[in-house]
Amino acid sequence: MKKYVVRTDMEGASGIVSYEQAEPGSREYAEGRRYFMSDLRALVYGLRDGGADEILLYDEHYYGRNIELDDLPACVHVFAGKSPYQKDWAGGLTRDCTGLILLGFHAKAGSSGCLLNHSYSLDICDIEINGRSVGEIGNEAAIAGELGVPLVMMTGDSAGVREAEMLVPGVAAVPVKESLSEFGALCRPVNETQKEIYAMARAVASQGSRAVPFCIPGPITMKIHRTGKETVICRGDTVLECWAQYLKEYA
Ligand SMILES: [Zn+2]
Repeated sequence: MKKYVVRTDMEGASGIVSYEQAEPGSREYAEGRRYFMSDLRALVYGLRDGGADEILLYDEHYYGRNIELDDLPACVHVFAGKSPYQKDWAGGLTRDCTGLILLGFHAKAGSSGCLLNHSYSLDICDIEINGRSVGEIGNEAAIAGELGVPLVMMTGDSAGVREAEMLVPGVAAVPVKESLSEFGALCRPVNETQKEIYAMARAVASQGSRAVPFCIPGPITMKIHRTGKETVICRGDTVLECWAQYLKEYA
């Protein structure tokens, strides 16, 4: 049984170079969403054609209402509306999952000069887990890692891809645009990035991955540094427990 959990973000989707293109309600959102869905459809059809039995999508961008439910294969289920992580619920990730996939991700906050760099919300300037600085890619990979699930694939801009490859050697990464500055990138037609995402996803599902789970052993101290606000410190046995605590009390 091949089961994948895909967490979806928008800033790292093909063609997106501004927050306006990824902000629900903004004039440019429809365009950004079209690019995002192009990437996402390519991914899920690639996984399915590679033999995936079950694909769980978790929409983690803004309100969690970005994924269009039209034209997706039957093996897909979507966590919409952003139900928060719980100490004992990792957004659909369980020990029997074959892999975690991050679609549309980007470099962490403080990656100076990197396209749309941030870590979850714009007020977070750094997240430290047991002294190690991570962004969204590292945090999500660590939550999967403590369940024994590796980050097998990611798509994003070139800086996000570099960050994922540093954390998880062997991750199958598709750079959909080349980061040139905080609000500029060299982009490619979505019909081209779509082909690459499809082919990579299909290969990952059919051939497997050599990526190993990214683990930060507990006990965990997580420090969330925020611009102009006090640092939040969460302690627990797992990264999941700490992050769930932060989401409950501060997000
Ligand atoms: Zn993000």
